Amino acid sequence: MELPRRIYEEMLNHARACAPEESCGLVGGRAGRAERFFPTPNGAEDPLRRYDIPPVDLLRVTREIERGGMELTAIFHSHPATEAYPSATDIRLAYYPEAFYLILSLADPERPVLRAFRIADGRVDEQPIAIC
Ligand SMILES: [Zn+2]
Repeated sequence: MELPRRIYEEMLNHARACAPEESCGLVGGRAGRAERFFPTPNGAEDPLRRYDIPPVDLLRVTREIERGGMELTAIFHSHPATEAYPSATDIRLAYYPEAFYLILSLADPERPVLRAFRIADGRVDEQPIAIC
């Protein structure tokens, strides 16, 4: 997928502001190119290790994406202390096979790592990501 640098920086700022908790959000776009990042609260009971976009935010942002003529291009969350790879829980709770899953690792604060995946039927496929 294609990610404008401005949006990458918005994700990075959101992740850093929420650390040590995981942060999350949704990305609207067209044809695999991100156009807008919507940070959301993390409603998980254990936000240090999980993320959960509250249903009210999911609905609000999904409508905003539709109104903007965009698609739900990606679902974003951060791993403040672990690698940028889906956890067993991330895989189990991945309900959007048509969206990219973006994971930003802050395990090395000086060198954040962002990776993109498709997750469907318990299978994880890494996808190329171009920050441009
Ligand atoms: Zn995760």
